[in-house]
Amino acid sequence: MNVSVKFLGGTGTVTGSRFLLDIGNFRLLFDCGLFQGLKELRLRNWEVCPVDPATIHAVVISHAHIDHTGYLPKLVREGFRGPIYCTEPSSDLMELMLLDSAKLQEEEAAYAAAHSYSKHENPLPLYTAQDVQKVLTLLREHPFNSKIKVNERIEIVFRDAGHLLGAAITEMFITGDSQSKKIVFSGDLGRSHDVILNSPTPIQEADVLFVESTYGNKGNPGGNPATELQRVVKDTVNNGGVLLIPAFAVGRTQVLLHYLHILMQEDKVPDIPVYIDSPMATSATYLYYKFPQYHKIKFNQSEFARQLETNMLVFVKNSKHSKTLNEIKRNAIIISSSGMMTGGRILHHMYRRLRNKQDTILIAGYQAEGTRGRRLMDGEPTIRIFGEEVPVNCKVECMTALSGHADREELFAWMKNFTKPPKITFTIHGENPDLKIYGQAIRDRMKWNVMSPEYLETVELFKGI
Ligand SMILES: [Zn+2]
Repeated sequence: MNVSVKFLGGTGTVTGSRFLLDIGNFRLLFDCGLFQGLKELRLRNWEVCPVDPATIHAVVISHAHIDHTGYLPKLVREGFRGPIYCTEPSSDLMELMLLDSAKLQEEEAAYAAAHSYSKHENPLPLYTAQDVQKVLTLLREHPFNSKIKVNERIEIVFRDAGHLLGAAITEMFITGDSQSKKIVFSGDLGRSHDVILNSPTPIQEADVLFVESTYGNKGNPGGNPATELQRVVKDTVNNGGVLLIPAFAVGRTQVLLHYLHILMQEDKVPDIPVYIDSPMATSATYLYYKFPQYHKIKFNQSEFARQLETNMLVFVKNSKHSKTLNEIKRNAIIISSSGMMTGGRILHHMYRRLRNKQDTILIAGYQAEGTRGRRLMDGEPTIRIFGEEVPVNCKVECMTALSGHADREELFAWMKNFTKPPKITFTIHGENPDLKIYGQAIRDRMKWNVMSPEYLETVELFKGI
């Protein structure tokens, strides 16, 4: 039996993770992400899928983030009908996130049509909520650490990766005609000391390893996230403005709330209103109670809720209420999605507040190339929103210490758990030139055989096993 992999995404970019494995005559897609950021990448979402989706037998999902799942509705619309394996929280989160993604696609198409800034006469969404419903019927959820039989020759086990509720490292066991082999996908790896999530599970061996590279060439500055957040909140209040934090409803929002709860309780920052302007945030926070075995806060539901509460915490549900936030001039914190500022309600807030000298925008997560978030980080003087160049007069702060990704040393610490080198290690989910530098660092420090694959490249993993 032969095994090969074709890289349909996640090469030279942190988005569009899709790795197609041909295992004998079984075709398995690992992750099914949407490309985000640079236009040349986003256009790939609209191209005909490089492999006929009807020929894929199963999909395995590492975690619910859109850059790992957001292409599923299109895959199903174009003929995929197999099972989609994921963890229990991933299944619930995917329902929230894919429906949100479809809504954003539909809104964007409608907005483009209404304001005629699209080149197309009748811009269509990439997919709709109906397409997402079909995906949901195919989900097969499993807990961590249990053997999942994909077919007679393939078994997988999900291990805790930290990073996001239910995010998994995937061990894949392949029984060939004469030999057995093991492939490990790191998925996105979390921090070693997250306040809510566990640190990534150590893995000891693999014949082939796919390792994420987001911060492969970056160390997170030491510093305590609470102290940094304290400084930013105080500065904003002193400047007489509002603090705007783009963050996805799941993950960073809960971490931010946890820190704000502590800071306000200890009187380290003024007790000002915190608005969570995301339709998903309430449901997402509920998932932490529903799946206590997937994180390390071991309180009951009401105690857990208290850990994430401030005195004036408001969950903004409808868009009418969201618009009233525009009138707030000072002493407030608004957390809104999406985290990379590619869509969602955050755009309306940015459209208003980027021009205000007194306001501050705090970037608290990884920003992919080509996103508005990256442009802000790079200090661009204007940001394009709703077809208009909006001047950036507000203060821009960055806190990578709040990122959900392992940094360079944490990635190396995780790899050092391997008792012998994998036959080959693929560095994926990273941007160039950092990706190449990280690959070389693994060669130098670990003495491993490393490859940084190209988009649509095919590599033979095992021959005649
Ligand atoms: Zn992720």
